[in-house]
Amino acid sequence: MKYISTRGAAPVLNFGEAMMTGLARDGGLYVPEAVPVMSKDAIAALAGQSYEETAFRVMRPFLGDTFGDDEFRGLIARAYAGFGHAARAPLVQLAPNHFLLELFHGPTLAFKDFAMQLIGQMMQAALEKSGQRITIVGATSGDTGSAAMEAFRGLGNVDLFILYPHGRVSEVQRRQMTTPVEANVHALAMDGDFDDCQARVKDMFNDFAFRDGVRLAGVNSINWARVLAQVVYYFFSAVALGAPHRAVSFTVPTGNFGDIFAGYIARQMGLPIEKLVIATNQNDILDRALRSGAYVTDGVKPSISPSMDIQVSSNFERALFDAYGRDGAAVAQLMAELKAGGFHISQGALEMLRATFASGRCSEEETTATIRAAHAATGEVLCPHSAVGVKVAEENLGPTPMITLATAHPAKFPDAVEGAMGLRPALPPRMGDLYSRPERVTRVANDLAALQALIRERTGH
Ligand SMILES: *Cc1c(COP(=O)(O)O)cnc(C)c1O
Repeated sequence: MKYISTRGAAPVLNFGEAMMTGLARDGGLYVPEAVPVMSKDAIAALAGQSYEETAFRVMRPFLGDTFGDDEFRGLIARAYAGFGHAARAPLVQLAPNHFLLELFHGPTLAFKDFAMQLIGQMMQAALEKSGQRITIVGATSGDTGSAAMEAFRGLGNVDLFILYPHGRVSEVQRRQMTTPVEANVHALAMDGDFDDCQARVKDMFNDFAFRDGVRLAGVNSINWARVLAQVVYYFFSAVALGAPHRAVSFTVPTGNFGDIFAGYIARQMGLPIEKLVIATNQNDILDRALRSGAYVTDGVKPSISPSMDIQVSSNFERALFDAYGRDGAAVAQLMAELKAGGFHISQGALEMLRATFASGRCSEEETTATIRAAHAATGEVLCPHSAVGVKVAEENLGPTPMITLATAHPAKFPDAVEGAMGLRPALPPRMGDLYSRPERVTRVANDLAALQALIRERTGH
């Protein structure tokens, strides 16, 4: 299995190399040269299997010889052992044809644990073999950083630096990033918003002297290994509802387009997914782009679903690559135009995207109203991101069963939930001491040179 860049001008890599590289050297994102298809029988045989066995069968064809079969099974087992629910990703029913996939039973209570726990295990295993040590730098709007801290703390061959926008993450998210005691993980609170954090991380990757000097690797949602780990729960939930004999649709609360792109890969692998519905909050660039064809940035408006407060959805580049017939030069041109504010999606590409994706937007008031209404109707307490999904899903219900991804536990965003329904959701007992652990964080300016100096100093490069 070979991986190629969406901009067509970076080295072709195998799975292990693509995982360690993150962003391609031409600025593009790695995608499989060809997506392996699972036969109808192979999908049917997933019925009744554990999450871990499903993960093994779905991901194995993408890995080449990076890991042996027994080794990979061991990594999967370790990745999901710390989850607080035996099913890992349980489905609950909200309405006659509407289901909620609870992806928030991992150690940091958001879906990002599914990918991050596994990529931590996979990177450490690969580094132990090669005897190398790497530096991971990631930007976060909150949940990526906490998931990464939890997944990488204490791993012997990795130093992890997480940049988060100072004052713009929830207290639970912040504490999950600032309370791990292991010396190899570093929380950095930066002045600016998430896009500023993401831009500085991209700058570090584009500075090849720095990149090679500290052996920089990335775990943001552009990392192919993260996307791949997320493909699994599309299979797991669809099969639980009768796939491949029955089609399903998914609605996905979307920010960086990573989670929903995993659904697109599942569909390409042969999973019968009718519609993939993009659900955005008031930061609605994707919804506007799909409706109008104009992908134009518009500044970030802070919302009560902050993990989706993003104006440039990095992984959308992967969908564009396919929509433009895998023409890397065309994608590179679009991304150059984006730097200057935006671009128009060609008619052909727009038709391809609309054949796969639907979209909708949920305002702040609608988010609050949906949390309240879902609780009254079902007793289910939704986090604000999941509420965005449920609202948009309700506009897209039809004869095909709809699965909405619940991306975080409500206790991760207690203020928004309390504001909506008057009850403060409690943390699961296993995390009860989060508010009493000491915090450790470094405040940093939005300044590339200063950030690089700090990282060099702490890693000894
Ligand atoms: C990261 C995140 C999202 C958005 O996921 P993308 O892969 O960036 O689209 C949605 N909800 C929550 C709770 C998240 O942490």
